[in-house]
Amino acid sequence: MASNHVRFRQGGRISNIQFGEYGMIVSRYNYTSQFSDRLPATVAAIQEVLLNGDYILGNHVESFEASFAAFVGANYCVGVNSGTDALILALSACELGHGSRIAVPANTFHATILAIVRIGAVPILIDADPRTFLMDLDSLEAERHLDAILPVHLFGLAADMERIRLHANRLGAIVIEDCAQAHGAMDGSRRTGALGAVGCYSFHPSKNLAAAGDAGACVTNDADIAERLRWLRQLGQKAQNDHVVAGFNSRLDAIQAIVLSAKLPKLEPWNQARAAIAARYRSELGTYPVSFQEPRGPREHVYHLFQMRTRDRDDLLRHLRTSGVDATIRYPVAAHQQPAFRQATWAQGRFPVAEALAKELLCLPIRPDLSEEEITHVLRSVGEFF
Ligand SMILES: *Cc1c(COP(=O)(O)O)cnc(C)c1O
Repeated sequence: MASNHVRFRQGGRISNIQFGEYGMIVSRYNYTSQFSDRLPATVAAIQEVLLNGDYILGNHVESFEASFAAFVGANYCVGVNSGTDALILALSACELGHGSRIAVPANTFHATILAIVRIGAVPILIDADPRTFLMDLDSLEAERHLDAILPVHLFGLAADMERIRLHANRLGAIVIEDCAQAHGAMDGSRRTGALGAVGCYSFHPSKNLAAAGDAGACVTNDADIAERLRWLRQLGQKAQNDHVVAGFNSRLDAIQAIVLSAKLPKLEPWNQARAAIAARYRSELGTYPVSFQEPRGPREHVYHLFQMRTRDRDDLLRHLRTSGVDATIRYPVAAHQQPAFRQATWAQGRFPVAEALAKELLCLPIRPDLSEEEITHVLRSVGEFF
């Protein structure tokens, strides 16, 4: 293993398990490779901002917003502070709030449900489909009173937006997409993100498109929603000192926009590289007692995470960690079973598929720049276990 990154992680500790007893470390992230030859130009642009003081919003943010809107195929992009804020602002911009009933998958990251709780709305949790690990659409269609539906393209797999929109139209409900794990994922021939009223993105350093800190964005085709999002991120200001709504302080910084603009041209090839690695994993691990998410068509999965489902999850994780494979669990406790949501009325056992997934899913490393040697080591380590 030649890269600095790998040397840096050698001997490191992850969750108290000593890594790399066999010398080979296959880590989940490699930020060095994300910049490669774009590093000097990125640093020069950041230096200019450090010295000129245009830190918040400004030209770099506008330029990134225009490129990201074009990437998604949306009319507008509004840069905000994080993916969590993107969700909160999107729900607020669609005038959802106290008492609104919002359907959301039980199997998702905490932030999706938190955003609903934060605006005073009622999360209507929908159990997972065991084939896709996404919101079960039969259960969704059984819900007759909803103000909004918040599908999550979880782990990178696009939800079936056609079916979701049909049900939303029947009920007169708004659709807001959580795209935090699915930058670029296709739903059939259409890009996710602009298929509902608003698409919400995170650029947290772990995501397929990564800032150097917290950052996020909302995309929309609706000019009025875009305008409200711009007010909401800026303390509700329409113009300086003209506060027209009760807003938030959640803006994208110029330095993050510079980093994101430097990486955006690589997003599509990175997603393809992730899909190629996923295809290897699927074909070579499929003979073991494991299962994977089932995409409906090509390019619908951008493999933010490669999730493998197995009853031997905990023992396999231990084995992989001691073999130097940076496998991990996303998420070990189902969102509705977190203490933060304890006062809610979701009884244990109410969402059996989501609860089983929390016990049986394991993520294998899937950086776009994984080397042949690293992929082989992952495959061999899983094989050794079974
Ligand atoms: C990361 C993530 C978020 C939150 O994004 P932050 O930028 O970390 O606030 C929301 N939803 C999902 C599905 C995520 O993976």
